[in-house]
Amino acid sequence: RAIIYWLRRDLRLADHPGLAAAAASGRPVVPVFIHDESVAALGAAPAFRLGLGLERFGATLGDMGSRLILRRGSAPAVLQALIAETGAGAVWWTREYTPQAITRDSALKTALQQAGIEARSFGGALLFEPWTVETGAGGFYKVYTPFWRAVSQREVSAPDPAPARVRPPEAWPGSEALSDWGLGAPMRRGAAVVATHQAPGEAAALERLDRFIATGIGQYDACRDLPAGDGTSTLSDALSLGEIGPRTLWHRAGEAAHKGAQGAETFLKQLVWRDFAYHLMYHTPHLLSENWRPGWEVFPWATDPADPGFVAWTRGRTGVPLVDAAMREMYVTGRMHNRARMIAASYLTKHLMVHWKLGMDWFADCLTDWDPAANAMGWQWVAGCGPDAAPYFRIFNPETQAKKFDPKGRYRNHWIAEGQAEPPRAALSYFDAVPRSWNLRPDASYPPPIMALDQGRRRALSAYASAFSQG
Ligand code: FAD
Repeated sequence: RAIIYWLRRDLRLADHPGLAAAAASGRPVVPVFIHDESVAALGAAPAFRLGLGLERFGATLGDMGSRLILRRGSAPAVLQALIAETGAGAVWWTREYTPQAITRDSALKTALQQAGIEARSFGGALLFEPWTVETGAGGFYKVYTPFWRAVSQREVSAPDPAPARVRPPEAWPGSEALSDWGLGAPMRRGAAVVATHQAPGEAAALERLDRFIATGIGQYDACRDLPAGDGTSTLSDALSLGEIGPRTLWHRAGEAAHKGAQGAETFLKQLVWRDFAYHLMYHTPHLLSENWRPGWEVFPWATDPADPGFVAWTRGRTGVPLVDAAMREMYVTGRMHNRARMIAASYLTKHLMVHWKLGMDWFADCLTDWDPAANAMGWQWVAGCGPDAAPYFRIFNPETQAKKFDPKGRYRNHWIAEGQAEPPRAALSYFDAVPRSWNLRPDASYPPPIMALDQGRRRALSAYASAFSQG
Protein backbone atom coordinates (compact mmCIF):
# COMPACT_ATOMS: atom_id res chain seq x y z
CA ARG A 1 0.00 0.00 0.00
CA ALA A 2 1.06 3.54 -0.76
CA ILE A 3 2.95 5.84 1.58
CA ILE A 4 1.68 9.38 1.96
CA TYR A 5 4.80 11.49 2.39
CA TRP A 6 3.87 14.67 4.21
CA LEU A 7 6.33 17.41 3.26
CA ARG A 8 6.69 20.37 5.56
CA ARG A 9 9.98 22.27 5.81
CA ASP A 10 11.98 19.65 3.90
CA LEU A 11 11.54 20.58 0.25
CA ARG A 12 14.47 18.59 -1.14
CA LEU A 13 15.38 15.24 -2.64
CA ALA A 14 18.94 14.74 -1.34
CA ASP A 15 19.88 14.44 2.33
CA HIS A 16 16.28 13.56 3.12
CA PRO A 17 16.22 10.35 5.17
CA GLY A 18 12.44 9.92 5.20
CA LEU A 19 12.00 10.47 1.48
CA ALA A 20 15.01 8.25 0.73
CA ALA A 21 13.43 5.47 2.80
CA ALA A 22 10.06 5.94 1.11
CA ALA A 23 11.68 5.77 -2.34
CA ALA A 24 13.77 2.75 -1.38
CA SER A 25 10.70 0.89 -0.10
CA GLY A 26 9.51 0.45 -3.67
CA ARG A 27 5.97 1.35 -2.54
CA PRO A 28 3.98 4.03 -4.33
CA VAL A 29 4.54 7.42 -2.72
CA VAL A 30 2.07 10.30 -2.63
CA PRO A 31 3.98 13.49 -1.71
CA VAL A 32 1.69 16.06 -0.14
CA PHE A 33 2.05 19.57 1.26
CA ILE A 34 -0.73 20.80 3.54
CA HIS A 35 -1.66 24.46 3.94
CA ASP A 36 -2.59 24.08 7.61
CA GLU A 37 -2.67 26.44 10.61
CA SER A 38 1.12 26.61 10.72
CA VAL A 39 1.21 27.91 7.14
CA ALA A 40 -1.65 30.34 7.79
CA ALA A 41 0.35 31.72 10.73
CA LEU A 42 3.44 32.53 8.65
CA GLY A 43 4.51 36.12 8.21
CA ALA A 44 4.28 37.79 4.81
CA ALA A 45 7.87 37.20 3.62
CA PRO A 46 8.23 33.60 4.82
CA ALA A 47 4.86 32.73 3.24
CA PHE A 48 5.93 34.34 -0.01
CA ARG A 49 9.25 32.45 0.05
CA LEU A 50 7.42 29.21 0.82
CA GLY A 51 5.32 29.73 -2.31
CA LEU A 52 8.50 30.02 -4.41
CA GLY A 53 9.93 26.91 -2.77
CA LEU A 54 6.76 24.87 -3.31
CA GLU A 55 6.60 25.84 -6.95
CA ARG A 56 10.18 24.73 -7.48
CA PHE A 57 9.88 21.51 -5.52
CA GLY A 58 6.65 20.57 -7.31
CA ALA A 59 8.50 21.00 -10.61
CA THR A 60 11.42 18.86 -9.36
CA LEU A 61 9.06 16.06 -8.39
CA GLY A 62 7.25 16.45 -11.72
CA ASP A 63 10.54 16.01 -13.60
CA MET A 64 10.97 12.59 -12.02
CA GLY A 65 7.46 11.39 -12.77
CA SER A 66 6.06 12.21 -9.33
CA ARG A 67 3.92 15.12 -8.13
CA LEU A 68 3.41 17.40 -5.18
CA ILE A 69 -0.22 17.22 -4.07
CA LEU A 70 -1.41 20.44 -2.43
CA ARG A 71 -4.28 20.48 0.03
CA ARG A 72 -5.60 23.04 2.45
CA GLY A 73 -7.07 22.24 5.87
CA SER A 74 -6.05 20.86 9.22
CA ALA A 75 -3.44 18.14 8.76
CA PRO A 76 -5.31 15.23 10.41
CA ALA A 77 -8.44 15.86 8.33
CA VAL A 78 -6.51 16.27 5.07
CA LEU A 79 -4.45 13.14 5.70
CA GLN A 80 -7.51 11.13 6.61
CA ALA A 81 -9.18 12.20 3.36
CA LEU A 82 -6.07 11.29 1.36
CA ILE A 83 -5.86 7.88 3.01
CA ALA A 84 -9.47 7.25 2.01
CA GLU A 85 -8.85 8.46 -1.55
CA THR A 86 -5.63 6.55 -2.16
CA GLY A 87 -5.94 3.53 0.10
CA ALA A 88 -2.53 4.43 1.57
CA GLY A 89 -1.31 2.38 4.51
CA ALA A 90 1.28 4.78 5.87
CA VAL A 91 2.02 8.43 6.56
CA TRP A 92 5.66 9.44 6.91
CA TRP A 93 7.28 12.82 7.58
CA THR A 94 10.42 14.63 8.74
CA ARG A 95 10.31 15.81 12.34
CA GLU A 96 9.76 19.46 13.29
CA TYR A 97 10.48 20.84 16.74
CA THR A 98 8.28 23.82 17.56
CA PRO A 99 5.98 23.05 20.51
CA GLN A 100 2.94 23.34 18.21
CA ALA A 101 4.40 20.91 15.69
CA ILE A 102 5.34 18.42 18.40
CA THR A 103 1.81 18.49 19.85
CA ARG A 104 0.22 18.18 16.40
CA ASP A 105 2.48 15.36 15.25
CA SER A 106 2.26 13.32 18.45
CA ALA A 107 -1.54 13.45 18.39
CA LEU A 108 -1.52 12.54 14.72
CA LYS A 109 0.81 9.61 15.26
CA THR A 110 -1.45 8.18 17.95
CA ALA A 111 -4.60 8.68 15.85
CA LEU A 112 -3.05 7.07 12.76
CA GLN A 113 -1.75 4.12 14.71
CA GLN A 114 -5.15 3.61 16.31
CA ALA A 115 -6.65 3.54 12.82
CA GLY A 116 -4.17 0.88 11.74
CA ILE A 117 -2.10 3.26 9.60
CA GLU A 118 1.66 3.19 9.93
CA ALA A 119 3.00 6.56 11.14
CA ARG A 120 6.74 7.18 10.96
CA SER A 121 8.79 10.28 11.61
CA PHE A 122 12.39 10.81 10.54
CA GLY A 123 15.26 13.12 11.41
CA GLY A 124 17.08 15.17 8.81
CA ALA A 125 16.18 18.75 9.75
CA LEU A 126 19.00 18.97 12.29
CA LEU A 127 22.49 17.61 12.70
CA PHE A 128 21.73 16.28 16.19
CA GLU A 129 18.34 15.39 17.60
CA PRO A 130 17.78 17.75 20.55
CA TRP A 131 17.37 14.94 23.08
CA THR A 132 20.62 13.24 22.09
CA VAL A 133 22.92 16.01 23.30
CA GLU A 134 23.23 15.84 27.08
CA THR A 135 25.48 17.43 29.65
CA GLY A 136 27.50 15.23 31.99
CA ALA A 137 24.71 15.61 34.54
CA GLY A 138 22.11 14.43 32.03
CA GLY A 139 20.51 17.82 31.35
CA PHE A 140 20.44 20.02 28.26
CA TYR A 141 22.94 22.72 27.33
CA LYS A 142 22.23 26.36 28.09
CA VAL A 143 25.56 27.68 26.89
CA TYR A 144 26.85 27.39 23.35
CA THR A 145 30.57 26.62 23.79
CA PRO A 146 30.12 23.39 25.78
CA PHE A 147 27.34 22.41 23.34
CA TRP A 148 29.80 22.85 20.50
CA ARG A 149 32.43 20.83 22.37
CA ALA A 150 29.90 18.08 22.97
CA VAL A 151 28.93 17.75 19.31
CA SER A 152 31.95 18.84 17.30
CA GLN A 153 33.64 15.46 17.38
CA ARG A 154 30.48 13.48 16.75
CA GLU A 155 29.99 11.34 13.72
CA VAL A 156 27.32 12.82 11.44
CA SER A 157 26.11 10.23 8.96
CA ALA A 158 26.68 10.99 5.29
CA PRO A 159 23.70 12.60 3.56
CA ASP A 160 21.48 10.25 1.55
CA PRO A 161 21.79 10.80 -2.19
CA ALA A 162 18.73 12.06 -4.04
CA PRO A 163 16.53 9.13 -5.02
CA ALA A 164 16.54 8.48 -8.76
CA ARG A 165 12.85 7.65 -8.69
CA VAL A 166 9.92 7.99 -6.33
CA ARG A 167 7.30 5.48 -7.43
CA PRO A 168 4.06 7.18 -8.39
CA PRO A 169 0.67 5.75 -7.35
CA GLU A 170 -1.56 4.11 -9.98
CA ALA A 171 -3.90 7.09 -9.80
CA TRP A 172 -3.13 10.54 -8.41
CA PRO A 173 -5.48 12.20 -5.94
CA GLY A 174 -6.57 15.73 -6.84
CA SER A 175 -4.46 18.73 -5.95
CA GLU A 176 -5.29 22.35 -5.31
CA ALA A 177 -3.52 24.99 -7.43
CA LEU A 178 -0.61 26.76 -5.73
CA SER A 179 -1.68 30.06 -7.31
CA ASP A 180 -5.04 29.77 -5.52
CA TRP A 181 -3.25 29.84 -2.17
CA GLY A 182 -1.99 33.38 -2.76
CA LEU A 183 1.03 32.82 -0.55
CA GLY A 184 2.74 35.94 -1.89
CA ALA A 185 -0.30 38.21 -1.56
CA PRO A 186 0.39 39.70 1.90
CA MET A 187 3.77 40.96 0.63
CA ARG A 188 1.96 43.27 -1.81
CA ARG A 189 4.38 45.39 -3.79
CA GLY A 190 7.37 44.13 -1.80
CA ALA A 191 7.01 40.73 -3.48
CA ALA A 192 8.19 41.90 -6.89
CA VAL A 193 11.30 43.54 -5.41
CA VAL A 194 12.23 40.69 -3.08
CA ALA A 195 11.63 38.11 -5.82
CA THR A 196 14.60 39.43 -7.79
CA HIS A 197 16.87 38.50 -4.86
CA GLN A 198 15.63 34.96 -4.42
CA ALA A 199 17.07 31.75 -5.79
CA PRO A 200 14.58 29.16 -4.55
CA GLY A 201 14.95 25.42 -4.79
CA GLU A 202 17.37 22.64 -4.07
CA ALA A 203 19.42 22.98 -7.26
CA ALA A 204 20.07 26.67 -6.60
CA ALA A 205 21.03 25.95 -2.98
CA LEU A 206 23.48 23.23 -4.02
CA GLU A 207 24.98 25.55 -6.60
CA ARG A 208 25.34 28.29 -4.03
CA LEU A 209 27.02 25.85 -1.67
CA ASP A 210 29.47 24.78 -4.41
CA ARG A 211 30.39 28.40 -5.01
CA PHE A 212 30.75 29.14 -1.33
CA ILE A 213 32.98 26.11 -0.76
CA ALA A 214 35.08 27.00 -3.82
CA THR A 215 35.56 30.69 -3.15
CA GLY A 216 33.93 31.83 0.10
CA ILE A 217 34.71 29.48 2.93
CA GLY A 218 38.45 30.18 2.90
CA GLN A 219 37.72 33.85 3.61
CA TYR A 220 34.82 33.23 5.99
CA ASP A 221 36.83 34.16 9.09
CA ALA A 222 37.96 37.44 7.60
CA CYS A 223 34.81 38.46 5.73
CA ARG A 224 31.76 37.06 7.49
CA ASP A 225 31.31 40.15 9.65
CA LEU A 226 31.40 42.67 6.83
CA PRO A 227 27.80 43.42 5.88
CA ALA A 228 28.73 44.94 2.51
CA GLY A 229 30.46 41.84 1.24
CA ASP A 230 29.44 38.43 0.08
CA GLY A 231 31.31 36.72 2.90
CA THR A 232 28.71 34.23 4.10
CA SER A 233 26.91 31.30 2.52
CA THR A 234 23.48 33.02 2.27
CA LEU A 235 21.97 29.57 2.60
CA SER A 236 19.64 30.40 5.48
CA ASP A 237 16.54 30.71 3.25
CA ALA A 238 17.22 27.27 1.83
CA LEU A 239 17.98 25.80 5.25
CA SER A 240 14.83 27.26 6.71
CA LEU A 241 12.62 25.57 4.08
CA GLY A 242 14.78 22.47 4.01
CA GLU A 243 15.80 23.00 0.39
CA ILE A 244 19.22 21.89 1.55
CA GLY A 245 19.99 19.71 4.54
CA PRO A 246 22.40 20.57 7.35
CA ARG A 247 24.28 17.28 6.98
CA THR A 248 25.18 18.29 3.44
CA LEU A 249 26.70 21.52 4.74
CA TRP A 250 28.41 19.73 7.61
CA HIS A 251 30.14 17.26 5.31
CA ARG A 252 31.10 19.76 2.62
CA ALA A 253 32.53 22.19 5.19
CA GLY A 254 34.23 19.28 6.97
CA GLU A 255 35.97 18.28 3.73
CA ALA A 256 37.03 21.88 3.20
CA ALA A 257 38.45 21.95 6.75
CA HIS A 258 40.33 18.76 5.99
CA LYS A 259 41.86 20.42 2.94
CA GLY A 260 42.97 23.30 5.14
CA ALA A 261 40.31 25.93 4.32
CA GLN A 262 40.86 28.66 6.90
CA GLY A 263 37.25 29.56 7.70
CA ALA A 264 35.75 26.08 7.65
CA GLU A 265 35.74 25.51 11.38
CA THR A 266 34.18 28.92 12.05
CA PHE A 267 31.53 28.08 9.48
CA LEU A 268 30.81 24.74 11.16
CA LYS A 269 30.45 26.57 14.46
CA GLN A 270 27.88 28.93 12.93
CA LEU A 271 25.99 26.00 11.51
CA VAL A 272 25.94 24.42 14.95
CA TRP A 273 24.38 27.65 16.35
CA ARG A 274 21.35 26.62 14.32
CA ASP A 275 21.22 23.26 16.06
CA PHE A 276 21.80 24.97 19.39
CA ALA A 277 18.76 27.20 18.77
CA TYR A 278 16.66 24.08 18.17
CA HIS A 279 18.14 22.36 21.21
CA LEU A 280 17.05 25.32 23.33
CA MET A 281 13.62 25.62 21.75
CA TYR A 282 13.01 21.92 22.30
CA HIS A 283 14.06 21.91 25.95
CA THR A 284 12.77 25.39 26.84
CA PRO A 285 9.93 26.23 24.44
CA HIS A 286 9.25 29.50 26.27
CA LEU A 287 12.28 30.74 24.29
CA LEU A 288 9.72 31.60 21.58
CA SER A 289 7.46 33.78 23.64
CA GLU A 290 8.81 34.83 27.03
CA ASN A 291 12.01 36.22 28.49
CA TRP A 292 14.14 33.13 28.74
CA ARG A 293 15.79 34.29 31.96
CA PRO A 294 13.50 34.69 34.94
CA GLY A 295 13.30 38.12 36.51
CA TRP A 296 13.16 40.13 33.29
CA GLU A 297 9.44 40.84 33.58
CA VAL A 298 10.36 43.93 35.63
CA PHE A 299 12.27 45.48 32.76
CA PRO A 300 10.36 48.49 31.39
CA TRP A 301 10.37 47.61 27.69
CA ALA A 302 8.01 49.60 25.46
CA THR A 303 5.38 47.20 24.16
CA ASP A 304 3.13 49.43 22.06
CA PRO A 305 3.58 48.87 18.32
CA ALA A 306 2.63 52.52 17.85
CA ASP A 307 5.71 53.58 19.86
CA PRO A 308 7.34 56.26 17.66
CA GLY A 309 10.78 54.68 18.09
CA PHE A 310 9.49 51.32 16.94
CA VAL A 311 7.71 52.88 13.97
CA ALA A 312 10.86 54.74 12.88
CA TRP A 313 12.90 51.56 13.27
CA THR A 314 10.51 49.52 11.15
CA ARG A 315 10.64 52.14 8.42
CA GLY A 316 14.41 52.37 8.26
CA ARG A 317 14.13 56.02 9.37
CA THR A 318 15.87 56.18 12.75
CA GLY A 319 18.56 58.53 11.48
CA VAL A 320 21.21 55.98 12.47
CA PRO A 321 22.57 54.97 9.07
CA LEU A 322 23.81 51.49 9.92
CA VAL A 323 20.48 50.54 11.54
CA ASP A 324 18.45 52.02 8.68
CA ALA A 325 20.63 50.32 6.07
CA ALA A 326 20.03 46.99 7.80
CA MET A 327 16.25 47.41 7.76
CA ARG A 328 16.26 48.49 4.13
CA GLU A 329 18.41 45.53 3.11
CA MET A 330 15.67 43.35 4.60
CA TYR A 331 12.84 45.02 2.68
CA VAL A 332 14.66 44.76 -0.63
CA THR A 333 16.22 41.30 -0.35
CA GLY A 334 14.21 39.51 2.34
CA ARG A 335 17.45 38.97 4.24
CA MET A 336 19.70 40.90 6.58
CA HIS A 337 23.37 40.32 7.25
CA ASN A 338 24.03 38.70 10.64
CA ARG A 339 26.06 41.60 12.02
CA ALA A 340 23.41 44.02 10.82
CA ARG A 341 20.74 41.92 12.59
CA MET A 342 22.67 42.19 15.83
CA ILE A 343 23.11 45.95 15.49
CA ALA A 344 19.50 46.62 14.47
CA ALA A 345 18.20 44.40 17.29
CA SER A 346 20.51 45.96 19.88
CA TYR A 347 19.50 49.47 18.86
CA LEU A 348 15.80 48.60 19.17
CA THR A 349 16.01 46.81 22.50
CA LYS A 350 18.57 49.06 24.14
CA HIS A 351 18.77 52.55 22.66
CA LEU A 352 15.01 52.58 22.07
CA MET A 353 14.12 50.17 24.90
CA VAL A 354 11.47 48.48 22.79
CA HIS A 355 10.52 44.91 23.71
CA TRP A 356 12.46 42.27 21.80
CA LYS A 357 9.16 40.52 21.04
CA LEU A 358 8.03 43.40 18.82
CA GLY A 359 11.33 43.16 16.95
CA MET A 360 11.13 39.38 16.72
CA ASP A 361 7.61 39.50 15.32
CA TRP A 362 8.60 42.16 12.84
CA PHE A 363 11.48 40.04 11.58
CA ALA A 364 9.12 37.05 11.41
CA ASP A 365 7.01 39.04 8.99
CA CYS A 366 9.85 40.40 6.87
CA LEU A 367 12.60 37.76 6.62
CA THR A 368 12.48 35.18 3.85
CA ASP A 369 14.85 33.05 5.96
CA TRP A 370 12.62 33.28 9.03
CA ASP A 371 13.31 30.44 11.40
CA PRO A 372 11.39 30.25 14.68
CA ALA A 373 14.29 29.02 16.80
CA ALA A 374 17.11 31.12 15.31
CA ASN A 375 14.98 34.27 15.32
CA ALA A 376 13.88 33.90 18.95
CA MET A 377 17.36 32.96 20.13
CA GLY A 378 18.91 35.84 18.18
CA TRP A 379 16.55 38.41 19.69
CA GLN A 380 16.81 37.11 23.24
CA TRP A 381 20.58 36.87 22.91
CA VAL A 382 20.88 40.49 21.80
CA ALA A 383 18.31 41.76 24.32
CA GLY A 384 20.23 40.18 27.19
CA CYS A 385 17.41 38.03 28.55
CA GLY A 386 18.24 34.92 26.54
CA PRO A 387 20.40 31.88 26.99
CA ASP A 388 24.14 32.51 26.76
CA ALA A 389 23.19 36.12 26.09
CA ALA A 390 25.36 39.16 25.69
CA PRO A 391 24.97 41.03 28.99
CA TYR A 392 22.45 43.87 28.76
CA PHE A 393 25.05 46.47 29.63
CA ARG A 394 27.10 45.53 26.58
CA ILE A 395 25.40 47.91 24.17
CA PHE A 396 26.48 47.94 20.54
CA ASN A 397 27.40 51.44 19.47
CA PRO A 398 26.26 51.66 15.83
CA GLU A 399 28.90 54.29 15.07
CA THR A 400 31.77 52.21 16.43
CA GLN A 401 30.33 49.17 14.67
CA ALA A 402 30.19 51.14 11.41
CA LYS A 403 33.84 52.19 11.75
CA LYS A 404 34.86 48.62 12.34
CA PHE A 405 32.66 46.67 9.95
CA ASP A 406 31.69 49.23 7.30
CA PRO A 407 34.68 51.57 7.35
CA LYS A 408 34.18 52.98 3.84
CA GLY A 409 30.41 53.25 4.18
CA ARG A 410 29.82 50.77 1.35
CA TYR A 411 26.93 49.05 3.11
CA ARG A 412 25.29 52.28 4.21
CA ASN A 413 25.64 53.85 0.76
CA HIS A 414 24.34 50.74 -0.90
CA TRP A 415 21.06 50.90 1.01
CA ILE A 416 20.44 54.57 1.84
CA ALA A 417 19.52 56.74 -1.12
CA GLU A 418 18.82 60.03 0.61
CA GLY A 419 21.67 62.51 0.28
CA GLN A 420 23.33 60.72 -2.64
CA ALA A 421 23.39 62.47 -6.01
CA GLU A 422 23.23 59.13 -7.82
CA PRO A 423 21.94 56.51 -5.44
CA PRO A 424 22.50 52.89 -6.40
CA ARG A 425 19.60 50.85 -7.74
CA ALA A 426 19.41 48.79 -4.52
CA ALA A 427 18.90 51.89 -2.38
CA LEU A 428 16.12 53.09 -4.68
CA SER A 429 14.44 49.68 -4.65
CA TYR A 430 13.60 50.21 -0.99
CA PHE A 431 11.09 52.88 -2.03
CA ASP A 432 9.43 50.38 -4.37
CA ALA A 433 9.34 47.64 -1.74
CA VAL A 434 7.76 49.39 1.24
CA PRO A 435 4.05 50.22 1.57
CA ARG A 436 2.91 53.33 -0.27
CA SER A 437 1.17 54.42 2.93
CA TRP A 438 4.59 55.14 4.44
CA ASN A 439 4.85 58.08 2.04
CA LEU A 440 8.57 57.81 1.52
CA ARG A 441 10.50 59.42 -1.31
CA PRO A 442 14.15 59.15 -2.27
CA ASP A 443 14.49 62.90 -2.72
CA ALA A 444 13.30 63.64 0.83
CA SER A 445 16.00 64.45 3.34
CA TYR A 446 17.47 61.78 5.55
CA PRO A 447 16.13 62.15 9.12
CA PRO A 448 18.27 63.31 12.02
CA PRO A 449 18.75 60.67 14.75
CA ILE A 450 15.50 60.07 16.65
CA MET A 451 17.57 59.40 19.75
CA ALA A 452 21.12 60.62 20.48
CA LEU A 453 23.21 57.49 20.86
CA ASP A 454 24.82 58.43 24.17
CA GLN A 455 21.47 59.49 25.61
CA GLY A 456 19.84 56.20 24.60
CA ARG A 457 22.71 54.26 26.05
CA ARG A 458 22.55 56.09 29.39
CA ARG A 459 18.78 55.69 29.57
CA ALA A 460 19.03 51.93 28.93
CA LEU A 461 21.77 51.45 31.50
CA SER A 462 19.92 53.34 34.17
CA ALA A 463 16.67 51.41 33.45
CA TYR A 464 18.66 48.21 33.75
CA ALA A 465 20.26 49.31 37.01
CA SER A 466 16.97 50.31 38.61
CA ALA A 467 15.04 47.25 37.33
CA PHE A 468 17.53 44.83 38.71
CA SER A 469 18.53 46.63 41.89
CA GLN A 470 14.86 46.49 42.96
CA GLY A 471 14.33 42.92 41.84
P1 FAD B 1 26.25 31.79 7.33
O1 FAD B 1 27.16 32.68 8.07
O2 FAD B 1 26.68 31.32 6.00
O3 FAD B 1 25.95 30.54 8.29
C1 FAD B 1 25.50 29.27 7.78
C2 FAD B 1 24.22 28.86 8.46
O4 FAD B 1 24.42 28.69 9.86
C3 FAD B 1 23.10 29.88 8.36
O5 FAD B 1 22.44 29.80 7.12
C4 FAD B 1 22.24 29.53 9.54
O6 FAD B 1 21.38 28.45 9.25
C5 FAD B 1 23.26 29.08 10.57
N1 FAD B 1 23.57 30.20 11.45
C6 FAD B 1 24.56 31.12 11.30
N2 FAD B 1 24.56 31.99 12.33
C7 FAD B 1 23.54 31.63 13.14
C8 FAD B 1 23.03 32.13 14.36
N3 FAD B 1 23.58 33.20 14.98
N4 FAD B 1 21.97 31.52 14.91
C9 FAD B 1 21.40 30.43 14.33
N5 FAD B 1 21.85 29.91 13.17
C10 FAD B 1 22.91 30.50 12.59
N6 FAD B 1 18.75 33.00 11.20
C11 FAD B 1 17.78 32.39 10.50
O7 FAD B 1 18.06 31.44 9.77
N7 FAD B 1 16.48 32.81 10.59
C12 FAD B 1 16.11 33.85 11.39
O8 FAD B 1 14.91 34.17 11.47
C13 FAD B 1 17.12 34.53 12.11
N8 FAD B 1 16.83 35.62 12.88
C14 FAD B 1 17.84 36.26 13.56
C15 FAD B 1 17.50 37.36 14.37
C16 FAD B 1 18.49 38.04 15.08
C17 FAD B 1 18.13 39.22 15.95
C18 FAD B 1 19.83 37.61 14.98
C19 FAD B 1 20.91 38.33 15.72
C20 FAD B 1 20.17 36.52 14.20
C21 FAD B 1 19.17 35.82 13.48
N9 FAD B 1 19.49 34.71 12.67
C22 FAD B 1 18.48 34.07 11.99
C23 FAD B 1 20.85 34.15 12.62
C24 FAD B 1 21.75 34.68 11.49
O9 FAD B 1 21.69 36.07 11.41
C25 FAD B 1 21.42 34.08 10.12
O10 FAD B 1 21.31 32.68 10.21
C26 FAD B 1 22.48 34.42 9.08
O11 FAD B 1 22.59 35.81 8.93
C27 FAD B 1 22.15 33.77 7.77
O12 FAD B 1 23.06 34.11 6.77
P2 FAD B 1 23.93 33.01 6.06
O13 FAD B 1 23.06 31.90 5.60
O14 FAD B 1 24.74 33.70 5.03
O15 FAD B 1 24.83 32.50 7.27
